[in-house]
Amino acid sequence: MNVDSSIVVKSDILEKALDLLRNYVLCDNCLGRQFAYLGTGTDNRQRGAAIKLILTMEAHKMLEDGDVDRAKEILMTLAINGKCDAARGVLSQKFPDCAVENLKCEICGDFFENIENVVNRVLEICRNLDFETFVVGSSVHSSILNREDELRSKHDILFGESIKREINREIGKRIHKKLNKKFESKAPDVVILINLKQDFSVEIDVRTNPLYIFGRYRKNLRGIPQFPVPHSGQYSVKDLIVTPVLEITGGSDAIFHPIGLEGRNVKVLGSGRPFIVEVKNPKIRKIDLTRLEKIINDRSNGAIEVFNLRFSSKEELRRLKAKSRVFVNKYRVLVRAQDCVGEEQLKTLEEFFREIVIQQRTPTRFLGKSKDKTKKKVVYSVKANKITNDTFELLITCQAGLFVREFVEGDYGRTSPSISELLGVGCECLEVDILGVEFEPHS
Ligand SMILES: [Zn+2]
Repeated sequence: MNVDSSIVVKSDILEKALDLLRNYVLCDNCLGRQFAYLGTGTDNRQRGAAIKLILTMEAHKMLEDGDVDRAKEILMTLAINGKCDAARGVLSQKFPDCAVENLKCEICGDFFENIENVVNRVLEICRNLDFETFVVGSSVHSSILNREDELRSKHDILFGESIKREINREIGKRIHKKLNKKFESKAPDVVILINLKQDFSVEIDVRTNPLYIFGRYRKNLRGIPQFPVPHSGQYSVKDLIVTPVLEITGGSDAIFHPIGLEGRNVKVLGSGRPFIVEVKNPKIRKIDLTRLEKIINDRSNGAIEVFNLRFSSKEELRRLKAKSRVFVNKYRVLVRAQDCVGEEQLKTLEEFFREIVIQQRTPTRFLGKSKDKTKKKVVYSVKANKITNDTFELLITCQAGLFVREFVEGDYGRTSPSISELLGVGCECLEVDILGVEFEPHS
């Protein structure tokens, strides 16, 4: 049989398409995708169908002109490997004895012909999810990708699009239309993953991205740990904040990210400590933050209070964590000295501690739990107010992460310079309060 189509089809595209169909079973999408960058404002299915239709018309004409063998060969190619209804129609009319098998597309396994089924499965999974934005991603088995690569290199295809891109776009388009949800590639509420496997079966995974809530808290009582202490029966800052958050969002779990740590006996006052709650698998995203704030504060009975709640993002959490070392903390510390401390000595403290780098070895109280190492932290300023002969109050502004207790007491010389070292008198911290955590570096 003469298969030199160039005589009939004087088009690079049609010639190449017919050549492809002689070698592969290709659905409209998979044929069209090989020419995806030609012709805008259309999709691959239309491209593929249009090419097959024109080839059918050319073959039909050839048949009318009496070139029966070649016409039949082209029509058979289009009907079987091209799964083309128009060609099947001409064949059944002109050659009623011709049997036409129904084969699966060799690239996608008829994924695109059955795309509505996949979309319906996605919709079923998304039915009970509260979301506004989504993105579709896909993974396609390497055997499928390799087959398409091979087809392209053998047939010199220069304008092809990746199958993943087409899957993402075609599924995304339909979800958008049916649910009226927005595409959002950067921080979508929901990620829909389509997995096209080696045997062409399709797995669907819908992941809800966490919901992030930013806020600040004050802790008005001493004795409340930041995180739960196992078997203590004692509630923590995390419990007080996270329990209502989970109730309202219906999330499966929540991670409490305070910006900086504090001991259980440290109060947090003033502008408070920033935190982000990361809610896993939230069922409800559009929550009323004012109501949440009120519930947390009412239930805490004054032990803690939250304020400035707003929605946040993974990106902000990452940024705050990365920058947390340069944040500025303000402390109020009540100190008792082992001897009398005069106003003059307190003045010396204020004059000395101006932008001073403090060397701190891991505090004795953490040895055994943490590695013994030395870190440097800046104390920006110290204000001292005498209370009695041997007690005074310090207002310390320092880089986040300074161990304040050790900075005052000296920790057997492991922190230097320290308040105790400078006064030449043993000092003890009676109370530590945080007055605020500021994001702006000290100026
Ligand atoms: Zn296909």
